[in-house]
Amino acid sequence: MINIHDFRSRVIYEFYLGLQVMSIFFLILFNKYLFQNEFIFALIFIIAYASFVLIKVAQFVKKVYINGKEDFKPFIWSVFIDGIFLCSFLYFSRNYFYILSHLFYVYLVLISMISNHKLSMVYSSYTAICYIFLVIIHEHMALATLDVIVHISLFYLLGHIMSTIVNEINKLESRMCYMYNDLEHKNNLLSEMVSKDFLTNLNNHKTFYIYYKDIILRSCESKSAFGLAILDIDDFKKINDTYGHLAGDKILQEISFLIQANIRKNDVVARYGGEEFAILFPDTSAKDSADICERIRNIIETHVISVDNQSISVTISGGVAGGICTDPYYRNNNLFDSADQLLYKAKSEGKNQIIFSQELILISG
Ligand code: GH3
Ligand code: MG
Ligand code: MG
Repeated sequence: MINIHDFRSRVIYEFYLGLQVMSIFFLILFNKYLFQNEFIFALIFIIAYASFVLIKVAQFVKKVYINGKEDFKPFIWSVFIDGIFLCSFLYFSRNYFYILSHLFYVYLVLISMISNHKLSMVYSSYTAICYIFLVIIHEHMALATLDVIVHISLFYLLGHIMSTIVNEINKLESRMCYMYNDLEHKNNLLSEMVSKDFLTNLNNHKTFYIYYKDIILRSCESKSAFGLAILDIDDFKKINDTYGHLAGDKILQEISFLIQANIRKNDVVARYGGEEFAILFPDTSAKDSADICERIRNIIETHVISVDNQSISVTISGGVAGGICTDPYYRNNNLFDSADQLLYKAKSEGKNQIIFSQELILISG
């Protein structure tokens, strides 16, 4: 994910590179007209600079679009070479120097935008040096003219204005970044709140059905069976009545933790009802799913939960059914009915046990 700061730097740098490519194109086009007698030298120079810009563009494209690295700020030497190019261009087109020297302002604005605002005085000085250098080598121009003094003063003034503006933009950008991160954090919290059960932090009923649909479709595609288990804490009402509701909540949390810790990464568990849990076992037979549930049952049975200095043990019962999807537009809910009936059987046959059925339930239209 790209952040706001990187996005802004990228857009400005894209604009800067685009402008350089365009100006090279026009310079080559108007080379003969602009540079008249020296057009061959100018052309060689422009081609050398064009190669430099092409390398810069290629580096930018490679970094941003191929490697995905977000550090695409121009290097200081690149800005320095751009200044030398501008000087050389103005040297070759000396007949138009009065008009074209205003390009120094464009150069100063652009480099102030793409670079660190703290260096703005350095950029103003560099632009001024380039300008003075050109004035000196254009012999007929004197250094101490009002024209030169005004230009140089304006370079510093513009540098200062740009640094203030860029500084303000940076502050706004930091604030936006902060707000963006805060919003993202709150969005994550919200999505967690709507998808997870508050007490146990397991998936809630709604999220469970989203996974259920996914696993059914996978089963349709891969023609593989999957397991569904419904686990229910035994005599939980009695536990609540004996130890209180808060103790009941703590037990629910510990049992949830134990279930979550003892299933595989791809299995999906949810708090399906009050003290009922549903587990999906993708690409797993009913027998293998039941084996995992039996292991969990055993762990819970031997686990002692301490609440207010009292040791409490609970047991669970479970029904496990296996299903396979034959029609992605399935309608029946036979798998849940089957797991429910098996749970009912486990309860009525004495609780604290897992019962499964070898019969493969067809999920079809
Ligand atoms: P069985 O062995 O047949 O499942 O009996 P049971 O008592 O566990 O089942 P029953 O459906 O009669 O009672 C379920 C109890 O679970 C009743 C309800 O108060 C309790 N319960 C449901 N949700 C919560 C909860 O979030 N916290 C607490 N502490 N208790 C809950
Ligand atoms: Mg129960
Ligand atoms: Mg129940």
